[in-house]
Amino acid sequence: MRIRLSLTCPICGRERLLLIEHDSRYVEVVCPRCEIGYRVSLTYIIRRYVHEGVLDWARLIEDLHREFYSSVVLANLRRVKSSGKSSNVLKHVG
Ligand SMILES: [Zn+2]
Repeated sequence: MRIRLSLTCPICGRERLLLIEHDSRYVEVVCPRCEIGYRVSLTYIIRRYVHEGVLDWARLIEDLHREFYSSVVLANLRRVKSSGKSSNVLKHVG
């Protein structure tokens, strides 16, 4: 399943981020324009954001956006400093 979020990409500033589920194993927050993403396993999400059968969606999205933001901003700083080669950012948690 894909969910379009109201959050915009910190790099291009235009595209709205997508939340994509992969194989019921992990979800990824992705900018479809920059083709960069941040990936988290579903077991980690369940452990951390589900309490008594209730998913804390607001906190989950807030944390995913923050992690997406810090991983892509840091990756872009590194990219400017080093080779200039562009690559996707995929960090796995959980
Ligand atoms: Zn973008």
